[in-house]
Amino acid sequence: MGVKVGFRILILKYKNMAQRKAADCRTMPSEKNCSLYISGTAEEVLDAATQHAVASHGHKNTPELREEIRKGLVDAND
Ligand SMILES: [Zn+2]
Repeated sequence: MGVKVGFRILILKYKNMAQRKAADCRTMPSEKNCSLYISGTAEEVLDAATQHAVASHGHKNTPELREEIRKGLVDAND
């Protein structure tokens, strides 16, 4: 019983950690030396980072841009 509950908590923790992603503008090719760091779920980060790339870096909002950003997502460490 106790083992089962502990196991479930461990899985939940792992799931939350695995879900949290980050986009670090310092690792993206940029001419602006931007240091923005966005973290959250993959979809949240993808939306925010896409808007940021369009607003601050002059990118066009295309499926290709989203795909590039998705590829650049890293696991958040916070
Ligand atoms: Zn930026």
